[in-house]
Amino acid sequence: MKILFLDQSGKPGGAELCLIDIAKPYRDRCLVGLFADGSFRDLLLSAHIPVEVLATSQIQVRKESSLGQGLASLSQLIPLVGKVVRKARKYDLIYANTQKALVVGALASFFSRRPLVYHLHDILSPEHFSKTNRRIAVTSANRFASLVIANSQASLNAFVAAGGRQDLAAIVYNGFDPKVYQIPESDVSQIRQHLGLHKQFVIGHFSRLAPWKGQHILIEAIAQCPENVTAILVGDALFGEQDYVQQLHQQVTALGLEKRVKFLGFRSDIPLLMTACDLIAHTSTSPEPFGRVIVEAMLCGKPVVAAKAGGAIELVEQGVNGFLVTPGNPQELAQTIITCLQETEKTMVIARHARATASQRFDVATINQQISQLLEKKFISKTD
Ligand code: UDP
Repeated sequence: MKILFLDQSGKPGGAELCLIDIAKPYRDRCLVGLFADGSFRDLLLSAHIPVEVLATSQIQVRKESSLGQGLASLSQLIPLVGKVVRKARKYDLIYANTQKALVVGALASFFSRRPLVYHLHDILSPEHFSKTNRRIAVTSANRFASLVIANSQASLNAFVAAGGRQDLAAIVYNGFDPKVYQIPESDVSQIRQHLGLHKQFVIGHFSRLAPWKGQHILIEAIAQCPENVTAILVGDALFGEQDYVQQLHQQVTALGLEKRVKFLGFRSDIPLLMTACDLIAHTSTSPEPFGRVIVEAMLCGKPVVAAKAGGAIELVEQGVNGFLVTPGNPQELAQTIITCLQETEKTMVIARHARATASQRFDVATINQQISQLLEKKFISKTD
């Protein structure tokens, strides 16, 4: 089966990193069409996945955009749809990995007569998307997609609540290669030394810097923890949240935490950095659609504390394979950090259990098999 994958982003967010794993088995018979250039393209190329940037300028619609702003972007969309239609004719199906890719993919599917799959990586709720954008996504999916792959029950529920057709949808979690998360102890001590984390209890936060990812909640919690508790914030403002970055730096200064909170920017050595931490914190203040970092922490054998909402609840069972706290509550987060600091043995048992179960539950080979079975069931008889 030949697949034309579409993704609107040039930057590697969670949906894009997931797409690399999905596209790999199809690399000799697929193309990833991007609507923006950037480091995501390089990551695809280094995984030997064919990629082409199809749009010449960034589509100016944002998650919170109104109908008027959406219509104004039509002049950019029309030539792009034309290009995708011409490409799609060489493939058996179109696989849209993001919202704008869904809209373009839906029109291209109609004109090229190729079936459309939508991989839903978002929670289509008012917290994340404007009413117009929710309506456009749901209508495009309902009318044009033959299959909607939701990355969690939480994403599926929001899709259905927004008017999405349940009969189109299946849930497939993100897949991971457990081997990638096995890091030699010598590398870990080296990086801890290099980052000046010796003798510290290190909390890692791995996410793009954005208000709803809640880095400010972790900083506030650190201020309530003993002096040897420090944090590394790994990630950058991928989608222009520069005000928030400035706000975080001001918060660190105001709380006198300059020596205890380090901003490392965007990194590609996540497994190494995670393994160098004593605890990984996930602090999203709005429900997380899936939460790749939670699974990655588990695969590194590190305890994880996550905000109790959205997909995180499907990944973490309190006290069994991690810890859950109320979203947006720094006191509760600080209390959990202190408990982990004091009860290291008990915490490590939980982390070891999480590693063993996550290695099986999210194994990329099994997940890719689930996707290929869904595609075959829906499309193979029509394409072969
Ligand atoms: N990540 C990364 N470098 C960074 C920060 C994050 O590669 O500096 C990765 C992280 O390991 C995870 C992904 O970005 O795989 C984020 O996915 P998640 O589902 O947690 O959030 P999303 O970006 O989809 O909102």
